Amino acid sequence: MDEQPKIIKQGLSLELASFEPGWVWLVGAGPGDPGLLSLYALHALQHADVIVYDALVDLKILELANKDARLEFAGKRGGRPSPTQPDISRLLVKLAGEGLRVLRLKGGDPFVFARGGEEALALVAAGVPFRLVPGVTSGIGGLAYAGIPATHREINSIVTFVTGHMAGGNLPDVIDWEALARTSPVIVFYMPLTHLDDIVKHLMTAGRSKDEPVAVVSKATTADQRVLISTLEECSQAVRESRLKPPALFVVGPVVRLRDGLDWLGATTGKRLDPNPLEKGESE
Ligand code: SAH
Repeated sequence: MDEQPKIIKQGLSLELASFEPGWVWLVGAGPGDPGLLSLYALHALQHADVIVYDALVDLKILELANKDARLEFAGKRGGRPSPTQPDISRLLVKLAGEGLRVLRLKGGDPFVFARGGEEALALVAAGVPFRLVPGVTSGIGGLAYAGIPATHREINSIVTFVTGHMAGGNLPDVIDWEALARTSPVIVFYMPLTHLDDIVKHLMTAGRSKDEPVAVVSKATTADQRVLISTLEECSQAVRESRLKPPALFVVGPVVRLRDGLDWLGATTGKRLDPNPLEKGESE
C-alpha cells in the first residue's frame, strides 16, 4: 500500500531524445504553470545553450533553465519594437550555425496561433535540423484550469479555435460568422480583448443568443488567473469594468456552465462544486 509507483521510486529513467549541438528545438511551454511542461520541454531547458523566448513564457519556467544557458528575449517589451518574424528566424539559424543547442520557447503550443510553422520552415530552408515539442495550448489547458472543458458529450462534438487578431492587428476578415455561429456550439477565441465588442456583435448578428453563457479567462494557470462569467450580451461591459488583463481567452457556449461543477481549482480554496451543473435553469 505504502509503496510509491515505480516510476517515482526509480527516478526518471526514460529514454528521451538527446538535444544535439546545432539543433533547434521548437518547444511549447504551456500556458504558465510549470507543472504543465512536458518532459521534453524540461529536458530542453536543462540542456540548452541558448533560449530564445517569447513574452508569454512564464518567468517561473525560465527559472528552470540551466545556469549556463543564455537567455534571448524575442517579444515585445516596454513599447520598443519587437523583433520581426524574419529577425527571429535569422537569429535561430545563426545560433544553430554556431553549433549551439538552441531552445526556441513559446507560450502554449508552438503550432497554435504562434507562427511556429513559419519559424520551422525557415529552419528547413536553411538546412537546420529541428525538433518540435508540442505544448499544452491555452485554449484547452487554460480553460481546464477554469473548470471549463473544451468538449462535453452532452453539449458539443465540435469546438472551434479562432484568433481575434490577424498579423496586422485586425479581426480576421476571413471568418464566416454565420457558419461559425451555426455549426460550432463552443467557440474559443485567442487574443479576444481588443476586438471583443466586434466579436460579440458578429456572433449575435449571426444568430447566437444574447443570453448565451461566456467566460473570459485571464492569465490562466498562473497565480494571477482570473475568470469572468457573463453572457454574450453583457460581457463587453463586464470585461471593461473588471479590468481583466491579457493574455486572455474568450469562450462562448454551454460548456461554460460546467464550471459550477468542475472548478477544481476553486474547490481547493473551499468552493462547493455542484455535481449537476447543467440541470440548473432548465425549467426557465
Ligand atoms: N501558442 C499559444 C497562443 C499564442 S497567441 C497557445 O497555444 O496557447 C496568444 C494568445 O494566447 C493570448 O492573447 C491569449 O489569448 C492566449 N493565451 C496564452 N497564454 C494564456 C494564458 N496563460 N491565459 C490566457 N490566455 C492565454
